[in-house]
Amino acid sequence: MTEQTISAAFYRGGKSFAVEQTTAPAPKPGEVSVRVAYCGICGTDMHVYHGNMDARVGFNRVIGHEMSGVVAAIGEGVDTVTLGQKVVVRPLDHCGDCPACDAGHRHICHKLKFLGLDTDGAMQEIWTVPAHTLHGLPDELRLDHAALIEPVAVACHDVRLSQLKEGEDVVVIGGGPIGILVAMVARDAGGKVVVSEVNPNRLKIAQKLGFKTINPAEADLTAEINAITGDKGADVVFEVSGTQPGVDAMTQVAATRARIVMVAIHAQKPQIDLFQFFWRELQLIGARVYEPEDYEKAIGIISSGGVDADTVITDVAALEDIQTAFESLDRSPTALKSLIKVGADL
Ligand SMILES: [Zn+2]
Ligand SMILES: [Zn+2]
Repeated sequence: MTEQTISAAFYRGGKSFAVEQTTAPAPKPGEVSVRVAYCGICGTDMHVYHGNMDARVGFNRVIGHEMSGVVAAIGEGVDTVTLGQKVVVRPLDHCGDCPACDAGHRHICHKLKFLGLDTDGAMQEIWTVPAHTLHGLPDELRLDHAALIEPVAVACHDVRLSQLKEGEDVVVIGGGPIGILVAMVARDAGGKVVVSEVNPNRLKIAQKLGFKTINPAEADLTAEINAITGDKGADVVFEVSGTQPGVDAMTQVAATRARIVMVAIHAQKPQIDLFQFFWRELQLIGARVYEPEDYEKAIGIISSGGVDADTVITDVAALEDIQTAFESLDRSPTALKSLIKVGADL
């Protein structure tokens, strides 16, 4: 492939995108060009839209990272993918030369570049990325469903680090897009999952997906969890709400020696009841993005239907309509995952 003229959606600041023609370069050695099929709108992308990340992304950035596509061109020295193969991108590029990289924890590299924020992303017809970021997909996997692999990989990482065992009681605090996916992956791993959420629309979606739900604005969450677990409490708690009440609840519902996984990004430093950590020997586990094995796990779960993709994907819009898609996702009380169909013919 030589250079090609393609459509791309540029973030221009002030809650606006411009879809313009641009040039897709040929892949350099070690790179692969992917024809993008779908790209989901992430919570992070909404932060960009709201102007909260202007200093990091600037006003000439193509964002997007929750994507699926097919290999369009392969740079020199790459033998891990074939032309036309269905792929997803694990949007992390590491430095290879810091203490985290040296220890093998490339996903939390001290100089980590997040593709689609620190570099251009997938809201364009052709996206050129380092070959090491690619994961091949089974031929039969639908490319719209495959756009969920990135957020599902987040959930797979969270559940893997929790060391959840079959039959354990799980509470997911916060039933937004990531919370729902954490709940589905935890259930797929054999957990008995309860979702705590205050938003009635999100509660409805969680119930539709077959989860037991508790609204802590209407019921005593701790008492309810104690009733469900025979006064034991939850063996594993995921804090996905990013709120102080969520952080208060995470220690209140936890069983003796429970594992609590911090998934949410908190805007302020929350207060944590350390007394409970001592008294009941609780464990607090930080979990950030994903590692390659989490991607492979996510591909397996999506392929096997362990995540109900059709319920999670609530909207699909064309690339030219990206502005309206962000505006309506921002307003909609019922939307969960909104996809942009970037490649019209894929
Ligand atoms: Zn994301
Ligand atoms: Zn590094």
